Amino acid sequence: MDLQMDPSLATGYKSRAQIARVVTESWAAREAYCPSCQNGPLVAEPKNTKVIDFNCERCDEPYQLKSQGHPFSAKIVDSAYRPMYDAVFSGHAPNFILLHYDQVAWRVIDLLAVNRRLLTVRAVVPRPALRPPARRAGWIGCWIDLQGLPDGALVPLIQNGLERDHALVQDQWGRFNFLSSQKARTRGWLADVLSCVRQVGKAEFSLRDIYAFEDELGRLHPENRNIQPKIRQQLQLLTRYGVVRRVRPGVYQPNG
Ligand SMILES: [Zn+2]
Repeated sequence: MDLQMDPSLATGYKSRAQIARVVTESWAAREAYCPSCQNGPLVAEPKNTKVIDFNCERCDEPYQLKSQGHPFSAKIVDSAYRPMYDAVFSGHAPNFILLHYDQVAWRVIDLLAVNRRLLTVRAVVPRPALRPPARRAGWIGCWIDLQGLPDGALVPLIQNGLERDHALVQDQWGRFNFLSSQKARTRGWLADVLSCVRQVGKAEFSLRDIYAFEDELGRLHPENRNIQPKIRQQLQLLTRYGVVRRVRPGVYQPNG
């Protein structure tokens, strides 16, 4: 990938936000590739589609681009809360491509892809409603909580100005392809239990460690009354797919 962006494309634009949008979107349309299948460049979608900015022509994965001139922190600002919540809940949210660039040199510093298979409503956080005299008083936006995502949800394509090997990117992304065949609700359970594993943060964790999230998981999945058996079932599935390893009864290790 050529990490240099072309600011001359924004000639004639006045506002900083517009200039940044034109330059970063043009760069992504020229250079960004699909972490799922390595196909590139991605195809820009017409502006009237609500949340999808780019699409992979080969595997049809949707991507939404977010660009900023400073590093991405724990939370990223997204659009309206309710539509994003509904999109994530129903399994229709796009992947994200997070582009951090040097605002002076117009060069890409970091490019991170967020795997939508691991995005659950747990990570969609409402922001406080806008207050008067804001024109859109009452409007509620959202954050995507990157720290609330399981390990492996964020895959770097470019790190500190250096491009990573495409095959390695595809490998890391592909670890969770098994989730594609699951229904949105099952996928949500698997991803939520995985994000609990990340939060426990131990090299070896027990069932009891995950049971500690029983109340929170119960709130996220109100249709389920028996949370503990559900947790055990998710860990069995995650073991089968090689995402966690069962060390002995009731004790597991995150894999890789
Ligand atoms: Zn693709």
